[in-house]
Amino acid sequence: MIEIRGFSPGAAAPDPFCDSYPHPIDLRQIKFFTIFGAKLRLPKEKSHAPFSPVCGRSLNTNGSFISHATAVAEVMRCLGVDAEGLSSTEVEARLRQYGRNRLPDAQHKGPLLRFAQQFDNVLIYALLVAAIITGVLGHWVDTSVIVGVVVINAIVGFIQEGKAESALAAIQSMLAPLASVKREGQRVRINAEMLVLGDLVLLESGDRVPADLRLIELRNLQIDESALTGESVPVAKTPENVAPTAEIGDRKCLAYCGTVVTYGQGLGVVIATGEQTEIGRIGRMLREVEELSTPLLRKIAVFGRWLAVATFVVALLTVLFGHFLRGHSWEEMFLVAVGLAVAAIPEGLPALMTITLAIGVQRMAKRNTIVRRLPAVESLGSVTVICTDKTGTLTKNEMTVQRVITTEGVYEVGGSGYAPHGDFSYEGEPVTPLETPLLFDVARAGLLCNDAVLRKSGDHWELQGDPTEGALLTLSHKVGVDPHRHGTERTDSIPFESQNRYMATLHRDESHHFIVVKGAPETILSMSDTQRGPEGDETLDHAYWTAHIEACGAMGMRVLAVALKPVERLKALHSDHMQGGYVLLGLYGIIDPPREEAIASVARCRAAGIRIKMITGDHALTARNIGLQLGIGDGCMALTGAELEALDDDALRQAVRDVDVFARASPEHKLRLVKALQANGEIVAMTGDGVNDAPALKRADVGVAMGRKGTDAARQASEIVLTDDNFKSITAAVEEGRTTFDNITKAILFTLPTNGGEAGVLIAALLGGMVMPITAVQILWVNMVTEITLGLSLAVEPAERDVMSRQPRDPRAPILSALLSWRVLFVSLLLIAGTLGLFMWEMTQHGDVAMSRTVAVNALVMGEIFYLWNSRYTYDSVLNRRGLFGNRFVLYAIGTLLVFQALFTYAPFMQKLFGTADIDAAQWLRIVGFGVALMLLVEIEKALLRHRHAHRGHKAKV
Ligand code: ATP
Repeated sequence: MIEIRGFSPGAAAPDPFCDSYPHPIDLRQIKFFTIFGAKLRLPKEKSHAPFSPVCGRSLNTNGSFISHATAVAEVMRCLGVDAEGLSSTEVEARLRQYGRNRLPDAQHKGPLLRFAQQFDNVLIYALLVAAIITGVLGHWVDTSVIVGVVVINAIVGFIQEGKAESALAAIQSMLAPLASVKREGQRVRINAEMLVLGDLVLLESGDRVPADLRLIELRNLQIDESALTGESVPVAKTPENVAPTAEIGDRKCLAYCGTVVTYGQGLGVVIATGEQTEIGRIGRMLREVEELSTPLLRKIAVFGRWLAVATFVVALLTVLFGHFLRGHSWEEMFLVAVGLAVAAIPEGLPALMTITLAIGVQRMAKRNTIVRRLPAVESLGSVTVICTDKTGTLTKNEMTVQRVITTEGVYEVGGSGYAPHGDFSYEGEPVTPLETPLLFDVARAGLLCNDAVLRKSGDHWELQGDPTEGALLTLSHKVGVDPHRHGTERTDSIPFESQNRYMATLHRDESHHFIVVKGAPETILSMSDTQRGPEGDETLDHAYWTAHIEACGAMGMRVLAVALKPVERLKALHSDHMQGGYVLLGLYGIIDPPREEAIASVARCRAAGIRIKMITGDHALTARNIGLQLGIGDGCMALTGAELEALDDDALRQAVRDVDVFARASPEHKLRLVKALQANGEIVAMTGDGVNDAPALKRADVGVAMGRKGTDAARQASEIVLTDDNFKSITAAVEEGRTTFDNITKAILFTLPTNGGEAGVLIAALLGGMVMPITAVQILWVNMVTEITLGLSLAVEPAERDVMSRQPRDPRAPILSALLSWRVLFVSLLLIAGTLGLFMWEMTQHGDVAMSRTVAVNALVMGEIFYLWNSRYTYDSVLNRRGLFGNRFVLYAIGTLLVFQALFTYAPFMQKLFGTADIDAAQWLRIVGFGVALMLLVEIEKALLRHRHAHRGHKAKV
């Protein structure tokens, strides 16, 4: 395998910690070790204490780690590891011996408790009370049917919720944390579960510490330990050991599992994994237990409670009315009341909605979006603004240097991607870069100030590290810079942080020390006084460089500048060394083309009434141009971070109404932007990847973290994670969010008329002084079979065709708008009319109550079957191929239900249980006729609505 690396001594790995940095303790020189013997009590071995694989003794005592009071060398020796890291055989042996680095799963409810919880619902209590009273009155059939239905309902709920939970857990596990480790001298990224005692772990800002570490070296490392100590101010770490008695918060040389690196870098050795870590020992769970609920589901639960109260009141009034005004016996009236309660209560609805939500989450996972917090599914449907990063989300993040600009002029660079092949030209004429000193210097500087690694696997060049640096690495190879001949030893560096917008490295060769810095051109220009010319260093020509920066920006190129400063002998690099005195070598013009799919997605979002705001760290001109290519902004207006800072909150609120492109923006600006947008009433989705993005991600209505380049800190702060970092997936998530919300609405819209119709039939019969057209147990039957068959098929309903061409949903709007409440009433009335009408017709024909009831029940079910078709589209017509046959689950559900109804009608044991009787073909014909009529009437109602109202405007209110 061919490999190209950023430069370090002898062209060895540019690992800033293990190869080129001066070690506070040179691990390769260790010949002896010191023990704080006298002062340190020897650890009493505890069963859970981590053992040293080498010393064979426990590493801690009473919660106080020897490792924080012991020299790094001793800790390393005890752990049997050197500066190269563990070997793979050693790792395997330790994994076998100590197990994986895994915390015990958050307490899951046992199956019994989960089953019992199915009964914990006011609606079910009401049914159970009814069962007890019917039992006391000796109506055993009613009691057993009610109990049977409640139990079946609980079983269905239990199974479905179990499935939903495990589906969600499987999706969550896709977010397994990764760790950067050094093993056998190689830096590799592994699943954090595979870490073992003695592994060398590299930390960077944004990382979640994957195990307890004894820090070996660090650079400005700061860690937020609030997960462990509750203290939210980040702790500055040091590699020096501390007193054995130091409290957890004072053990500055340890990094604890589950805490988050907020700044800097570090290298540490694993001293405890899994349950042995500090967080594992105190039993605090890192994995949040996701509640299977959302604001909408809670709203529905409240609605259910109100419904139960209302049902109780109506049932009471009915009993009183029937007894006193109609002269029925108490017992008779009580059974009617039970029937009414059973009729009005949508007992299957809560489970149905949970399942719909879980299916939505699964669908999103298939489209590269992992939902971390369920309420996001709802919020996504209401999003009005998406604030997105540019690099990698809207663009391909495959950077290529296309121009190098020196004091001599512009050099065009051929080739694309990371393959190190491409020709150079100057004013249209080919040039030999090795004979062009200024061009060579710029390319070499880009190699020196670089941490990326390029590997060739097959025909493809794979990049490890920052794409911008990858582009510079490729350039240096195209030029022919040989790291072995043209390199120097790198002795220190300041890594790139987006708030600084530069990276600097300190170098030394036989006789010189110098600093190389590369970064945003404004930043580098402000550090430079001179420029490298053909005859030597000359005064900086600001206007020349600015003109080139603008020309590149106008073409959508990302521009980086590079400069150099000779220094006296220097050990370490600080920000003080970055103040001035640099010689500007030149500029790189880098292209990063927009993703084709992002252009289409931006257009889809627009059609869906969603505005896109691009917030980037790049130059305003570059941002405007890329924005224009993507359809974001007008290509003229962009607000920079500096301009944004000058605005007060009111002015910013106004600005965010007009401006879509924000350039040279820092994470703090993102937070202000979210706040300003929210103050304008917008529902905001915000993307982010860095640790400093966390506040903005948390503040946004939907925080969207990048799964690939995003840090653990960003993931933890966000509601959803994109596994492919692609803007397209945000659009897909919005679509799925809207669809899921639609399906929940459809489930409600389908279920409620069933209950309304049933209750209405009973009340109408009572008021009219008729025999009950449907008995309580028959009503239970209808509820049960329709909800477990018909209702479920709506949970998997695909997106409606216009789901992305309507306005976002107003989150304050009620679940059922006035229009949809009318639909519930209308269908309830149709069901009442059909069921009662057919019952009365039968009674007048033959007077057989059992047979008439059988017809009534089948009419009710048939009405629901046809209404299920109507419910597939809330407003659109279903009288077409797609509408009638587009969801095969609807067809399966109807088939199953017809089998159930045949059993219900003709099976002798069912006839005994439910008091049904055989019915003939003519009666079936009338039943089906009623179903068809109901369906057509609802379609006519939809057509009228579509015709009368500005269709789309109303749809937005769904
Ligand atoms: P976003 O992802 O938010 O669209 P970005 O990735 O373009 O933004 P940053 O990574 O913050 O933004 O980069 C800001 C600027 O810093 C860039 O325009 C570039 O000039 C400079 N820069 C980027 N990467 C590096 C690097 N590795 N070394 C030095 N300078 C860099």
